[in-house]
Amino acid sequence: TTFIGASFGGIAEMYAQIQKAVGATERVFELLEETPEEINANKKGVILEKIKGNVTFKNVAFSYPSRKEIEVLKDVNFSADFGQKIALVGPSGAGKSTISSLLLRFYDITSGEILVDGKSIYDYDLENLRGNMSIVPQDVILFGGTIRENIAYGKPDATDEEIFLAAKQANALNFVEGFPEKFETLVGERGVKLSGGQRQRIAIARALLKNPSILILDEATSSLDSESEKLVQEALEVLMEGRTSIIIAHRLSTIRKADKILVLDNGKITEEGTHQELMNLENGIYKNLSNLQFSNS
Ligand code: ATP
Repeated sequence: TTFIGASFGGIAEMYAQIQKAVGATERVFELLEETPEEINANKKGVILEKIKGNVTFKNVAFSYPSRKEIEVLKDVNFSADFGQKIALVGPSGAGKSTISSLLLRFYDITSGEILVDGKSIYDYDLENLRGNMSIVPQDVILFGGTIRENIAYGKPDATDEEIFLAAKQANALNFVEGFPEKFETLVGERGVKLSGGQRQRIAIARALLKNPSILILDEATSSLDSESEKLVQEALEVLMEGRTSIIIAHRLSTIRKADKILVLDNGKITEEGTHQELMNLENGIYKNLSNLQFSNS
């Protein structure tokens, strides 16, 4: 990921710049949720239907507004059927995060189509579209507030039982209940400092509570300690169940379990298939990457 400063091309881009700078995709997502009407002012989608979770990219091309001369995605085609796990892999700068930003409508595509359940994402009411998606970023930043507030973010009217259950399923209950104030414990600067794995489990609990049809997962590159790692992986398995997951994947174990792997190179999908299919390609990019790059946990 390269951070490009200086020229800002609108609010969406500014947020994305901040996102790149702080690595806090989720917080940015939240900010965007608060101001949906400003982002795509010229495209007021109206569809309010509950989303099932079929995702299709058709001949998608894209350039960032600040670097119009560079095509970051070129003729990208793929589909994710409801419930599938799709792993995006490829070298740094290939365009993996860009695909997730486009699906979340942080930017408008240059040409092509992105469809959700067969309809253009730009025809959906933006709040409804994002309300059906959750993102679990690499590095979760929680806002200063209680654990309860952080979990309930995607569903402010959640009951205590719902919050408790989400925390339980996310493998967060043990550590939350270890604090004297439990769910009322403050996090952040004025409260307890949570480990990376604990923060991820809070984000997973938040996503479980929101119950989205589409999940975007940016897998951590740096590994957590192995116990925390196991708890996070387990919680992610629960979270992915019954949803469409688009995973920016770095772990071989995740990639092996994917229904489909998309290999991105320089903005193009160069290979597509299961782990075994791609390992069978002579001199394949995936085969090379997989030998060199993926972490083995
Ligand atoms: P990584 O694995 O390092 O996160 P990636 O595959 O996710 O990389 P992207 O972050 O999607 O790659 O970046 C694709 C290309 O777009 C890169 O050349 C990058 O420099 C460029 N890019 C990313 N964000 C912006 C932005 N906000 N403005 C301009 N160019 C950008």
